[in-house]
Amino acid sequence: YHTLRFILGDQLNAAHSWFKQQDQGVLYVIAELHPEATYVTHHIQKLCTFFLAMERFASALKENGHDVCYLTLDDTQNQSLEEVILSLAKQHNIDRIELQRPDEYRVLQQYHALITDTAKLTVSMVDSEHFLLPFHEIPDFFQAKHTVRMEHFYRKMRQRFNILMTGDREPEGGQWNYDNANRNKLKTKDLADIPAPLCFQHDVAHLLERIQRHEIPFLGKIDSRLLWPVTSQDALNLLDFFCKHLLPNFGRFQDAMTNQTPHSWSLYHSRLSFALNAKLISPKHVIKAAITAYQENDTIDIAQIEGFVRQILGWREYVRGMYWINMPDYQEQNALQAQRNLPNYFWHGQTKMKCLASAIGQSLDYAYAHHIQRLMVTGNFCMLTEIEPQQVDEWYLGIYVDALEWVELPNTRGMSQFADGGWIASKPYAASGSYMQKMSDYCSDCHYKVKEKTSEESCPLNSLYWRFMVKHRERLATNPRIGMIYGNWDKQNDAQKHAVLHRAEWCLKNIEAL
Ligand code: FAD
Repeated sequence: YHTLRFILGDQLNAAHSWFKQQDQGVLYVIAELHPEATYVTHHIQKLCTFFLAMERFASALKENGHDVCYLTLDDTQNQSLEEVILSLAKQHNIDRIELQRPDEYRVLQQYHALITDTAKLTVSMVDSEHFLLPFHEIPDFFQAKHTVRMEHFYRKMRQRFNILMTGDREPEGGQWNYDNANRNKLKTKDLADIPAPLCFQHDVAHLLERIQRHEIPFLGKIDSRLLWPVTSQDALNLLDFFCKHLLPNFGRFQDAMTNQTPHSWSLYHSRLSFALNAKLISPKHVIKAAITAYQENDTIDIAQIEGFVRQILGWREYVRGMYWINMPDYQEQNALQAQRNLPNYFWHGQTKMKCLASAIGQSLDYAYAHHIQRLMVTGNFCMLTEIEPQQVDEWYLGIYVDALEWVELPNTRGMSQFADGGWIASKPYAASGSYMQKMSDYCSDCHYKVKEKTSEESCPLNSLYWRFMVKHRERLATNPRIGMIYGNWDKQNDAQKHAVLHRAEWCLKNIEAL
């Protein structure tokens, strides 16, 4: 071989130009690495999904006539990425290493080390050919340590890629944004219509055995079969299922939460995030397929398709830009100086707060929760109780099947914890129990009373919310999206205010018992 091409676990892009032709001089390498399996404690389904997708990708490449070396945990032992690449290069007398640009800063640093440490080898890096916005254009749209609004970026992307546009400048349907039509609660009569999710049935016994034998720490549960997509064909099937059965109601119930049906965990969400992030499927293809379904199917209206396109063309590309323009500083941000430890129930789900128990419980069961559960249930709770952002990040980075730092970190530290002081979010996403009651049915069988603020049975979110708002009044009072709520606080008499703050302090002191 003259060239070694290394493929990361999230670079399973069969359409990459690397694979356009077979070249006997090129050795492709895919490796299960201990450091990657342990840099945080991952969910067992996340470990299995990545490893199985990597195995399947390696087999598919071999079938297409490429030379592939697949290294398991047994082969790589405790070697680093750099050590694996260098020892293989030596073994095969290779002097040329080719890489695809990684999505995560941690890996980029390792690649840079490889480039500087290896004077005898030629190391080069090509694009991963996945995102819509070319990497080198990120600085044209984003500025480090500055507020950049998603909406502004998203409209530019719509125009640039001519997606859901009428002519060059006008959004299809006359509006850029249908968020107002997309905030429905699921009523009892809606529950029976929620489709059973498409779950795959992959056998992962050999991976479980290997992961356990290597004593890789993990969290969460797994059934004997893995339900996540692991090939591009799986991803296409999931996308097809989404367009047919879920897209007609995607936007409408995008923010809704329930625990009253067996399908509460998946609702109308696509669950394509792992397939997208591992590059089994391209964002362009997903958007195109969804728009075709919208054009061919009267049951899908503009608010549904726009809501979906916004997530992928807007949010997904936006957080990537915010990540890269702000790393490595992003991982140091703690604007609200949160210091508390993450309570233990984040690891087992046993809390009397029904909203938290539901969101954490399904995350442990499925390695999945949808956006509003991540943002408004677990995220909101961590922000109001001032959990140290590093610990919050680690939990999110470990538990979700789709969690990769480039997308996890801006969403968690920025959007959900406001630890960047507002680079991403125009206000902290702080909510009291009334939000939970508005968007979910969690409160109806909760131990706590959502209407109460100060009693021993009052919903902890109510007092914690006011404590948070009062504590950060100086920072938030001038925010046009928030300032007016202080009028409500000022209307209360001193005794009422004291009782609320007293209850909040009790909740913080007894956080493990909530
Ligand atoms: P759907 O609701 O079906 O949305 C479709 C697609 O849009 C998703 O697959 C995803 O690719 C994209 N998308 C939607 N919202 C966002 C967003 N805010 N940022 C980026 N892409 C988005 N997403 C991850 O992929 N990995 C993470 O580690 C991750 N961590 C998060 C942490 C927090 C605190 C929050 C609030 C959000 C996080 N998200 C993350 C974003 C979002 O919650 C998930 O992408 C989504 O829930 C995945 O489920 P789905 O595929 O069913 O999404």
